[in-house]
Amino acid sequence: MLRLYTAGDLPEAHLVVQLLERVGIAAQVFNEHAQGGLGEIPFTHTWPEVWVIEDADLPRAQQVLDAWQRMPSAPSRRCHDCGEENPGTFETCWRCGRPLAP
Ligand SMILES: [Zn+2]
Repeated sequence: MLRLYTAGDLPEAHLVVQLLERVGIAAQVFNEHAQGGLGEIPFTHTWPEVWVIEDADLPRAQQVLDAWQRMPSAPSRRCHDCGEENPGTFETCWRCGRPLAP
């Protein structure tokens, strides 16, 4: 397993994982529940990280990430079911999995 990306926040980390899964790359978010640990660990260590499960997928995952970072960001969308803020490119809510209304 290799670390691909340190995200600024949790929705961003989940967005990257969704992008990777769309092209068949298995990935996982770490530090998902570390937000409460501020004070004991340096702040940057609590940022959510995206890890690629298969080491061999890393170069391809990096390409997906690069392409995504060059895209203009879409306005975020709020989930009608749980109220969570989702990046505009999401089709389903990262928290509850319900489809997002356009
Ligand atoms: Zn939701």
